Amino acid sequence: SNEEAAAKTAVDTGGPTIFDKIIAKEIPSDIVYEDDKVLAFRDINPQAPVHILIIPKLRDGLTQLSKAEARHGEILGQLLYASKIVAEKEGIAEGFRVVINNGPDACQSVYHLHLHVIGGRQLKWPPG
Ligand code: ADP
Repeated sequence: SNEEAAAKTAVDTGGPTIFDKIIAKEIPSDIVYEDDKVLAFRDINPQAPVHILIIPKLRDGLTQLSKAEARHGEILGQLLYASKIVAEKEGIAEGFRVVINNGPDACQSVYHLHLHVIGGRQLKWPPG
């Protein structure tokens, strides 16, 4: 698809992303969970009945997972824990998937670390 082609060529510039505007509430998003460290909102192009993105409010160099350093351990844990809270809130705790697309070969398109929480239908394995 065109979207896949665009994501395949997207690169980590370290510059601002659309998620900065979502965090600042300068553009609307459908927020499903929020605390002082993380924000969870519905993906604008859902791939399943439930498709939520969870992001750190402070990017702190985490443009992508491959940029993680030891100091990011706490926020990485908070993001993963938030995926469980979101899955429970959405009623999919019995079956869901958490995905992080890292870099062009994984079709990452937004360079602000994000977890995809996907569910609400039978998911296939392996993914594409
Ligand atoms: P891909 O675009 O290939 O799925 P990513 O893993 O980087 O790559 O995912 C970025 C996600 O952000 C996409 O699922 C896309 O639909 C979503 N997205 C982009 N802009 C917005 C927005 N304004 N609000 C909600 N979700 C968005």
